[in-house]
Amino acid sequence: MSYDVIIVGAGNAAGAAAVSAREHGAKKVLMLEKAPQAQRGGNTYFSGAIFRFVFDKVAQLDRFIPDAEKEYPGFHADVPLYPKAAFEEDLLRVTEGRSDRTLLNTMIDESYDTTCWMQSVGKHHFELARSVMGLKVGNKIKWPRGAILRTIHEGVGLSETWLATAESMGVEIRYESHVLELTQNSMGRVNGVVVRGPKGVEKIEANAVVLGCGGFETNPEWRTRYLGQEWGHAKVRGSNFNYGDGLRMAMDLGAMPWGHWGGCHATPIVAEAPDYGVRNMTDKTNRLSYPFGVMLNMEGKRWIDEGADFNPFTYAKYGGLILKQTAGVVYQIFDSKAVELFEPRYWSSEPLKSDTLEGLVKQMKLDQTQAMKTLNEYNAAAAHGGPFNPAALDKLHTEGITPVKTNWATKLDAPPYYSWAVTGGITFTFGGIKVNPQAQVISTGWKPIDGLYACGEMVGGLFHYNYALGSGLMSGAVFGRIAGRQAAGNK
Ligand SMILES: Cc1cc2nc3c(=O)[nH]c(=O)nc-3n(C[C@H](O)[C@H](O)[C@H](O)COP(=O)(O)OP(=O)(O)OC[C@H]3O[C@@H](n4cnc5c(N)ncnc54)[C@H](O)[C@@H]3O)c2cc1C
Repeated sequence: MSYDVIIVGAGNAAGAAAVSAREHGAKKVLMLEKAPQAQRGGNTYFSGAIFRFVFDKVAQLDRFIPDAEKEYPGFHADVPLYPKAAFEEDLLRVTEGRSDRTLLNTMIDESYDTTCWMQSVGKHHFELARSVMGLKVGNKIKWPRGAILRTIHEGVGLSETWLATAESMGVEIRYESHVLELTQNSMGRVNGVVVRGPKGVEKIEANAVVLGCGGFETNPEWRTRYLGQEWGHAKVRGSNFNYGDGLRMAMDLGAMPWGHWGGCHATPIVAEAPDYGVRNMTDKTNRLSYPFGVMLNMEGKRWIDEGADFNPFTYAKYGGLILKQTAGVVYQIFDSKAVELFEPRYWSSEPLKSDTLEGLVKQMKLDQTQAMKTLNEYNAAAAHGGPFNPAALDKLHTEGITPVKTNWATKLDAPPYYSWAVTGGITFTFGGIKVNPQAQVISTGWKPIDGLYACGEMVGGLFHYNYALGSGLMSGAVFGRIAGRQAAGNK
């Protein structure tokens, strides 16, 4: 049996590709997912499902969240607009100017329209991501720029909705179907896959293949090889099926490696988190309120500016930096002033707690003498400038200590005190293959490989060193939609 389009994977990017392929006239569309049905959905299932997209007028949000003004009076006046220039500036700032401009422009230009398409054709429902993005200041919620909406039921809802919509449009989905290689005809055009499924190994033909099968974050060998020694034992925040299979298959046919192969998205997660994402915890192991506290390493020292920027622009980098510290573990320390600003997911694990800093430090497995010295020095150096404003880069900073804390440097002086031990959990890898704005995979001969498309985490070039929260899913939806449309036209 031959298909119009085969899609490898069943996450956000593959879901967008499948729905788009059917929408654009592909009659027979097959999704092949390596995981059993009960574990389907890749990283997408575990995600917070927050999307970053452009909007020039607040009215553009109404179609997604018609009740926002009623629920949060003043929302329309308060929410910061997010024009193209702001998205571009955010991404170029965090990637140190290295983001591939062509892909970046495609993602940003298509971001709003694609989110609308997800709603109208993909049948997704959205809500304000109040619990993780909305900051309560006085009796108001302050919203950051760009990344404020998520799909209802977060990644679980996102994943289930893509697959339900795809199935309702007639897409066939096969589980436990591990794609092993791509096939090509004598002209070098990709014309199918070899897959190992419940009934054995078979070749399946197609006019076009879309790869949406993730990065290599689950693969300890590739992590060690490309990211470095400290990544060999890293905990994986999401799927345990993303081993870089699609990248290897595409590169076996001459696809061009592209982007930051030495880089990845990794965040501070609670140290006792499981080795891989667990489905009832999804992203609840994250510990991202560190701008309102300090972080001490095993030597009892501060080692980073906790308040360098808002956490959506530092969290994806700090996980990797934690892994470089001794034992790959650091302690986040807060006083009770900060606790009021916490994301609720902090309470998914028990903190250390004490009425004194001494009592707190005594419970920690680090150099306790140095830790007390560091905390006392920090308190003596903190609270210059300001005033404290959690919703702005408030310049409430330290003076006379290294590293400096640039913003939100309140003294730790309000008991009780709390601490969570955190490690770095890997989310996804930045190294990928090169695609053009039509999502065609480009070879090392700088030409498209006929019949082959890629989307999602597999697309290299957008993210380097760091990341802006909500851009991964946006990229996956934009390039997945394009890949599906292009593949459908590939007769
Ligand atoms: C805890 C967590 C929270 C996150 N929160 C956010 C967020 O709020 N916003 C945001 O933008 N991003 C977020 N991300 C990142 C985002 O989830 C990913 O970038 C995105 O889901 C990747 O989508 P994808 O379709 O490329 O890959 P995936 O969703 O990982 O899907 C890849 C699929 O391919 C399958 N597969 C792999 N190899 C094969 C093979 N050989 N044959 C067949 N199938 C195969 C896998 O089983 C999987 O189903 C988060 C990630 C995690 C882990």
